[in-house]
Amino acid sequence: MQLGLPFTAAPVAPTRVVIAPTSESALAPTRVSSVAPTSDSEIPPIYFVRHRLARRYLLRVDHDGRVRVTIPRGGSKREADAFARRHLDWVSRQRERLTPSTVGLEERRSLRMKARAELPVRLRELAAAQGLTVTRISIRNQRTRWGSCGRDGHISLNWRLVLMPPAVRDYVLVHELMHLRRLDHSPAYWRLVAAACPGYREARQWLRTNGPALR
Ligand SMILES: [Zn+2]
Repeated sequence: MQLGLPFTAAPVAPTRVVIAPTSESALAPTRVSSVAPTSDSEIPPIYFVRHRLARRYLLRVDHDGRVRVTIPRGGSKREADAFARRHLDWVSRQRERLTPSTVGLEERRSLRMKARAELPVRLRELAAAQGLTVTRISIRNQRTRWGSCGRDGHISLNWRLVLMPPAVRDYVLVHELMHLRRLDHSPAYWRLVAAACPGYREARQWLRTNGPALR
């Protein structure tokens, strides 16, 4: 059993875009030669999947920028390849739209490294100030909570804590540390939090207001 500190979940961004070649004729280039690249470096990574229920060739750009071409029953890889090349304009527009989230992923990676470097150190500092010892700390990518504390004293922290003002981050750390004393949210528990973190009400308000945007 774990006690978590939840935050409001927002809907996940859409993951796929599909066009049908015959019904979306406006998207088809009028001069094929003008969009067919001469160098392979301009062609994004393409992979093919066969789908016997598909009735036409389908193009999809994955989140990682790869292009998936669905081959319908009776279709061929050669036609699928030609189909994809005819729609490279559309593909590159879709891939441009992906760029911000790709950058976001890189940034996330470095923020998670920062979290692994900084959060355990800060948690142990705050624990020592309270005369507590933490046995095990994990930095995680929880989708619904800022932190949790298990019965075995294992504290898990969300890497997104490094995006918060230090006072709010410290409140979350103290919140989990106080669960080492009381594994509930009783009035007695909140008295412990208030004693260790006098500004905890403002921190909780900050989390309610700004927390969902940190996802
Ligand atoms: Zn709690």
